Amino acid sequence: MTTPQPLIAGNWKMNGVSASLAEAKAVAAGLGSTSARVALCPSATLIAQMAWALKDTAVAVGGQDCRAEPSGAFTGDVAAEQIKDAGASLVILGHSERRAGHGETDALVASKVLAALRAGLEPIVCVGETLEQRKAGEALAVVTGQVRGSLPAELAGKAYSVAYEPVWAIGTGLTPTTPEIEEVHRAIRATLVEMFGEAGRAMPILYGGSVKPSNAAEILHADEVGGALVGGAALKAEDFLGIIRAV
Ligand code: PEP
Repeated sequence: MTTPQPLIAGNWKMNGVSASLAEAKAVAAGLGSTSARVALCPSATLIAQMAWALKDTAVAVGGQDCRAEPSGAFTGDVAAEQIKDAGASLVILGHSERRAGHGETDALVASKVLAALRAGLEPIVCVGETLEQRKAGEALAVVTGQVRGSLPAELAGKAYSVAYEPVWAIGTGLTPTTPEIEEVHRAIRATLVEMFGEAGRAMPILYGGSVKPSNAAEILHADEVGGALVGGAALKAEDFLGIIRAV
């Protein structure tokens, strides 16, 4: 089985207006040759504009969440089909800010993964432990439990990635040590192989949590790290490009 192609995805979270598309265009313009796939995931309001701005470039566009249902009376929510229609090809699901702030369970995340597959979107499924869970020695059990609960069997044979994002490392400037990252990524890989057989080796496992140009090379070259999900550092083209160049 060959090594999965690395994916570097930027999560703009609830940041950005149309003027911010200049940063997205600068990423595409500065990309050069890279072995990585690159994606930017803006707010739903910007997906269509960004997809238009990045058409004919190597930078893909993704959503940050979707509703499981394809349509209906769900005020304020966005369906996977709408995200796809706006020009996205990927979608982040189960981000810890959704799990914590919106009560998303593994079962709900799994239903959103099915919605993404139905719509033809490639899911990036996020998992990660809190600081309390890490201190209690529960990180591996929590993360592998989230993988089992959030990834439906229907992912077999489909393109997707898992993003390991320790909750305590997101936006804090803190990162786990490289051996800590490797320990979790190996446990995720073993779980994917248990669930999907040898096909469980085909998808990249991204690391996310305070990745920046200065720590990207060490993180991205760690065992079983197949890319990064980047928050704050994805808002500035120069920083995001610095991370992509570290692949
Ligand atoms: C994220 O929220 O997905 C993330 C990784 O954020 P940051 O890079 O800012 O820690």
